[in-house]
Amino acid sequence: MKCIVFSAKPYDRVFLEPLARSSGHELEFIDTRLNERTCKLADGYPAVCCFVNDPLNAEILDCLHRGGVRLITLRCAGYNQVSIPKAQELGIKITRVPAYSPYAVAEHAVGMTLSLCRHLHRAYQRVRDNNFSLDGLLGFDLHGRDVGIVGTGAIGSVTAKIFAGFGCRVKMFDPKPNESCQTFGEYVSLDDLLRNSDIISLHCPLTPATSYMINGPKIAVMRRGHMLINTSRGGLVDTQAIINGLKTGHIGAVGLDVYEEEGDLFFEDLSNRVITDDIFSRLLTFPNVLITAHQAFFTSNALEAIAQTTIDNLNRYQKQEPLLHCLT
Ligand code: NAD
Repeated sequence: MKCIVFSAKPYDRVFLEPLARSSGHELEFIDTRLNERTCKLADGYPAVCCFVNDPLNAEILDCLHRGGVRLITLRCAGYNQVSIPKAQELGIKITRVPAYSPYAVAEHAVGMTLSLCRHLHRAYQRVRDNNFSLDGLLGFDLHGRDVGIVGTGAIGSVTAKIFAGFGCRVKMFDPKPNESCQTFGEYVSLDDLLRNSDIISLHCPLTPATSYMINGPKIAVMRRGHMLINTSRGGLVDTQAIINGLKTGHIGAVGLDVYEEEGDLFFEDLSNRVITDDIFSRLLTFPNVLITAHQAFFTSNALEAIAQTTIDNLNRYQKQEPLLHCLT
């Protein structure tokens, strides 16, 4: 089966190509993102493979459908970038990879927390500069701290378990509590969690209901000096409100693997360009902010699982078998 792979990086090719070849699929890798212009590149392909910042809005779905696309396999878990009603109207099948490695993202969230609470990101630079002073690097023990986990699905539940292992007091909020998490801590209301956590880690999907769930008024009720970790989706937090909170010291530290305008920045080498996003640039000036460029998923285990599910779905579509993790 012919499939065009958008936003393809060299590492995508490494994991997808051998599996595709052994199943007899013909993959065309292009590094450009999917958009209103590039969607025409899919003309003649029955299947398209997309990543997290490839917008699948109504206009682009129409364009893909006109060109003959009937299957879209997402190489990611989140699907806030997809117009599901439009895909259903057009009869396009869309699949995702919901739990390729919850450990990858959970461990990254905890890694960011450790880095921020012991200032490892600053210590790394200092020592390379022959500056062995400890001034300004005073940290705190994670043991005994209150950690709030927002969303206890595949990733949030692993994160809760890891923090419980550190001896943290884990509080969780999820409209659909997960029984298996009860051993790691207690479920509380979102307001309770925000008011009573030293560290807050976000693990819920971006939907109209969760958009900007962390905003100025919510930040105001959080503990002074709290740490916020977001490895989920940038749109969950109002970035300007975070900057305001950092400036007053109300927010103690922020770890972001996602950013609401990341589509114009992440996954590309822009080191020779001027960054025109002033909000992002301001974030980079804070010593207590650690940003990674949507890297939490990026382990060999996760890429293997993503490639396997993607090729399985091409196989299944070809054999007219039920698709795995189909959204439409
Ligand atoms: P999941 O579907 O297993 O779990 C999401 C949980 O969030 C569910 O339990 C759901 O009930 C809960 N939820 C829904 N609305 C909520 C709300 N208003 N408040 C609190 N909880 C709410 O998803 P997952 O696999 O755990 O992934 C979580 C998110 O992580 C994804 O939506 C995706 O955006 C993000 N993600 C990021 C990366 C990365 O590389 N940074 C990788 C994979 C996933």
